[in-house]
Amino acid sequence: MSACILVVEDEPAIQELIAANLKHAGHRILQALDAEAAQTLLREELPDLVLLDWMLPGKSGIEFARSLRREQRTRSVPIIVLTAKSQEQDKVVGLDAGADDYMTKPFSPRELLARINAVLRRSAPDATDEAVEIGGLRLDPGSHRVTCDGTEVALGPTEFRMLHFLMTHPERVYSRTQLLDHVWGDHVFVEERTVDVHVRRLRAALEASGYDRLIETVRGSGYRISAK
Ligand code: CA
Repeated sequence: MSACILVVEDEPAIQELIAANLKHAGHRILQALDAEAAQTLLREELPDLVLLDWMLPGKSGIEFARSLRREQRTRSVPIIVLTAKSQEQDKVVGLDAGADDYMTKPFSPRELLARINAVLRRSAPDATDEAVEIGGLRLDPGSHRVTCDGTEVALGPTEFRMLHFLMTHPERVYSRTQLLDHVWGDHVFVEERTVDVHVRRLRAALEASGYDRLIETVRGSGYRISAK
């Protein structure tokens, strides 16, 4: 499982400890010492998860969490709040502000990783290493293999990511813009018709097995993978 995680924490020692552990677990880290720096980083890249300290200089973690939930672009980014406070009331305030989970300091790096993985699994199934299967079409992110009824199919990296995204979100229609955001990454300026090119390549790769029929074009809307 590899995700991009924004760590907002003003104590350098804790910031470094968290960053070292997350990097070791294969995650990519964005680091900010306060909400303002975090906001600047967010303009460049949308992370898969935000680890947010409660007590920050300037804008507090809770205020920052509220502002993330108000913005359309950051509304669905999962947030784990880090807090030295252990009173029940503070946890409730944190969760009310839009946090998905909280951890009380001091915490063990192993527990933090477990919580992060649990939140990522819920929010972004395509960020995990779990194999997905629809009919006889199987995609294994761990070994980076796609098989159709047991026969391996070679896919380019973009086709692989697109298939992974669609297979982990079956039956939902995604517009070209949404696919660009999810598959190519946020804030990458790629023309919309590029999506069609890669869908065509993906279908061509799956054609021999007949599984290209799973990838449906929804006229005027975009694409969808159907499990039926
Ligand atoms: Ca702090």
